[in-house]
Amino acid sequence: MTEGYGGPIVRCPECMKGQMMSTVEVVGQFRTMMTPTVYFDEEGRQHIHDPNTVTSTYQCSNGHRWQQGQKGYCWCGWPENRNESQGDVQ
Ligand SMILES: [Zn+2]
Ligand SMILES: [Zn+2]
Repeated sequence: MTEGYGGPIVRCPECMKGQMMSTVEVVGQFRTMMTPTVYFDEEGRQHIHDPNTVTSTYQCSNGHRWQQGQKGYCWCGWPENRNESQGDVQ
């Protein structure tokens, strides 16, 4: 169903419950204002470590509205990896 599509999947939770089909529109977006850390590691690979939370307001074509927050993440597993390494600090 999602073959060839690499983006995020957003479905209306109310419509999912009622097994209804709907399209979803982003009607508002709020982003915290922290500066992302961008760096290149020993292999020259780019990391974008963005600590911001983006809160989006969605509205589906059946009139449901909800908000969802999304945190930045990196291909290396950040921020989960960062938390693990903090646990190793003696
Ligand atoms: Zn809906
Ligand atoms: Zn990274």
